[in-house]
Amino acid sequence: MDREARRDELAASLDEVRRRIERACTAAGRDPGSVTLVAVTKTYPASDVELLAGLGVTDVGENKDQEAAAKAAAVAAPLRWHFVGQLQRNKAKSVVTYADVVESVDSTRLAGALATAAARLRERPLDVLVQVSIDGDPARGGAVADGSDPDRDLWRVAAAVEEAEGLRLGGVMAVAPRGWEPARAFEDLAGLAARLRADHPGATDISAGMSGDLEQAVRHGATHVRIGTSLLGMRNTLR
Ligand SMILES: *Cc1c(COP(=O)(O)O)cnc(C)c1O
Repeated sequence: MDREARRDELAASLDEVRRRIERACTAAGRDPGSVTLVAVTKTYPASDVELLAGLGVTDVGENKDQEAAAKAAAVAAPLRWHFVGQLQRNKAKSVVTYADVVESVDSTRLAGALATAAARLRERPLDVLVQVSIDGDPARGGAVADGSDPDRDLWRVAAAVEEAEGLRLGGVMAVAPRGWEPARAFEDLAGLAARLRADHPGATDISAGMSGDLEQAVRHGATHVRIGTSLLGMRNTLR
């Protein structure tokens, strides 16, 4: 497909996604300006990121360090880069050089690695969201609120981020667990986010909602929705 045709295609899907966000905000009595669209561009080329930036997208999300680093280097447009994937500690040094936000911090050890790397390699603090496991399943990543694992305890991870010089605690991120009613998952997340805000008033971000469930996320207070498929199309690889 040539660039112009792809641009038209992305413009149409972006329009539709923006309309969905607006309708969800109206239904929830919220200001549409209170929800930031993060375009999840994983598996799609840097040229698509450039086109989206040209269409007014301000925030993009990636989930693999190598791919994200290459894309961030290739894209000239000023964008906020969100890292949303599972992150190994040995990748912290790389991620802090291009990411503006890491949404997937789920252990005190990862927070420590990012803090060290951010203090050394960045001028400005790195925004961090604590990824929450809503069902407590340790296999799928995310901090837990039930005290069962000290390294992955939501409140300890948040405190570690808050105390780190190079990091700024922005709030929470979650993916609705498989087999759960998304509305119920996002309602639980909103409860945890409110508890977190009581201790950390600056932690106002709630990143929740993807292509299939953004409406439920907005209903339950999402400030960021992470949209891939509905914007860019179905991904070929399973990831
Ligand atoms: C891929 C991904 C998304 C986007 O999912 P879609 O269903 O394609 O909109 C959102 N969040 C995370 C963490 C992802 O990995």
